[in-house]
This record gives sequence, C-alpha cells and structure tokens, in this order.
Amino acid sequence: MGSRRKSAIAANSPPPKATDGQPGQVLAHHGQTSLVEAENGDIVRCSTRRSLPRTVSGDRVLWQASSPREGVITAVLERDTVLSRPDQNNRVRPVAANIDQIVVVIASKPSFEYGMLDRYLVAAELIGAQPVIVVNKSDMLDHDSRSKLEERLQVYQRIGYALLFTSTRSTDGLRDLHQQLKTHTSVLVGQSGVGKSSLIQSLLPELDIRTGSLSQVTGLGRHTTTVAMLYHLPDGGDLIDSPGVRDFNLVKVPAAELEHGFREFRPYLGQCRFHNCRHVSEPGCAIQTAAREGQISERRLENYCKLVSSMTAP
Ligand code: GDP
Ligand code: ZN
Repeated sequence: MGSRRKSAIAANSPPPKATDGQPGQVLAHHGQTSLVEAENGDIVRCSTRRSLPRTVSGDRVLWQASSPREGVITAVLERDTVLSRPDQNNRVRPVAANIDQIVVVIASKPSFEYGMLDRYLVAAELIGAQPVIVVNKSDMLDHDSRSKLEERLQVYQRIGYALLFTSTRSTDGLRDLHQQLKTHTSVLVGQSGVGKSSLIQSLLPELDIRTGSLSQVTGLGRHTTTVAMLYHLPDGGDLIDSPGVRDFNLVKVPAAELEHGFREFRPYLGQCRFHNCRHVSEPGCAIQTAAREGQISERRLENYCKLVSSMTAP
C-alpha cells in the first residue's frame, strides 16, 4: 500500500470548500486540542469544531488560522486507514490514521505473549497495513536464547512478515529499521517497557529539541504518555508513536472477517465442508486439517480460536 493522498471528506461531514481552510496534518491530539502541521512546517494549536469527528495523529485536515499560533480545524479528510482499539467501555477509539505499516515491538524482557502479537498482526491485516515485527533489546539475548527465539518466530517469517532484531544499546538492527520505515507512514505499537521511546530516541536524534518546542506549543507535558505523536524521520517516512499499553484488544469483528486476519489461512478459505465454517471444531475444516498436517502453526490457530470465542462472548 502506498500513502495515497485523498481529498475526499469524511463520510459524515459536508464537502470541503476552498474557504474551509488550508491543508494540514495532525501530529498529536489531546482532548479538544490538536497539533496541526501546516504545509509550510509551522505547528499550530487547533481546536476542532464540535460537529466534526475527533482527530487522531496522522489525520489530514483543513484548518483556519485564528491567531499566529492558533487555529480551528474545519474539516477532517477521509482516512485511507485507521488503527482502532476498544476503550474500557468497549467503545471503538481510533489510535492513528493514514498508516500503511504497523511495527509491533516485542522484547525478551518484559516477556511477550504470542496472543498479543497475533492480535496486533490481525489488526494490521484487517486494515490493509503491512506488519513488521521488531524484537528489541537484542543485546540481552545470548547466542542460545537468540537462536531459540528466532526459531519460535520463524513461523512469522515463513508467512512473509519482516522480522528485525534491534538494540538501542548496541545499535544492532537500527539501520535495517530505518530502511524499513523510510517509505511508509508507520505506527509503533507494543507493551510498555519494550523500548518504544528508546527506539524513537535512536531514530530521531533531534527529538529533544522537537518535543521541547512541541510541548511549548501544546502546553501538554513533555512526558504526556497519553498522546500519540507523529514524527517525520530524517531519511523519509513518518512514524507515529502510540502510547504503551498493557494489553491490546481487537475491535469486535465477525469470524468471517477475522479469518482474513491470519494470512496463512487464505489458500484454504472456501475449502471447508461448510461454507460458513468458523474453523473452530467443525468437521471437514480445511484449516484444522492444514494445522494437523503442519501447514499452519497450531499456536496461531489456537490464538485464532481464542479470538473467535472472545468476539462471540457477550
Ligand atoms: P517503552 O515503554 O516501550 O517506551 O520503553 P522505554 O523506551 O521506556 O524502555 C524501557 C526500559 O528498557 C528502559 O529502562 C530502557 O533503558 C530499556 N531499554 C530500551 N531499549 C533497550 C535495549 O535495546 N536494550 C536494553 N538492554 N534495554 C533497553
Ligand atoms: Zn474451516
């Protein structure tokens, strides 16, 4: 997927007029306030008209200046993609917009859970973004534990996902990560503590200056962790840093859609005995058979089944 520019407007907004304002990109938002980058690079603190949808980092908007550093967002342009997750009350909350790559950061410490990794990968597949798996803190792995981890993660490489080992201590893999991010708008996700902020620091040596000036504009604290922030990378590409989470849950989707979140299932879809097979325990299921024959990872199928039952739970 490329980062196509769309000029269409979000479905529930009236079409934009030239008088609606100038184009900009949302770098961060907090409550009613969004930080918008104008086309000339200026950063403006904007409020959003009540009638408009909430903006998120990565949104393309139209805005009008109300004073030299302040303005009002007058239109939110249609999103190519949006990564969402349910909040505590199960309402769908967008996290980042117009991304074409999701970088899932894991680390040997804190130990990660394959279920969560798979949920992120499914989220990426379902919105049509390319997933990349980054194992950070590679400096903490001795030769044996690295080989073991590589072996366990091989299943992801086999189905075509990029897998990188990185370290912000030894700079292992950082050059490859730069390459991977260069031509994309990516969102960095993962559990807190895996080293996302450290990776961003390593990727953006001038970050301190920028966060300093951003926090002046926003009045938001320097270390406000609830805000997702979009950064331009020095070699090209944009990176959205999402706040660390303890867990990541998927927005509910029917099994018929969920099956597309597991890309290795695709060759078998449509081959089950029942056309509405959920691939859980039905007889004549092509996917269960493929897993028994070693074509599909049993662990991935197990995580899929867990997701099906969590999605159908009340
Ligand atoms: P975040 O919560 O994902 O943003 O994680 P941080 O960047 O705050 O890092 C969490 C802890 O891991 C900090 O103590 C970092 O110094 C440490 N850390 C980050 N990257 C690495 C790494 O590559 N190797 C090692 N050994 N520690 C790291
Ligand atoms: Zn089936």
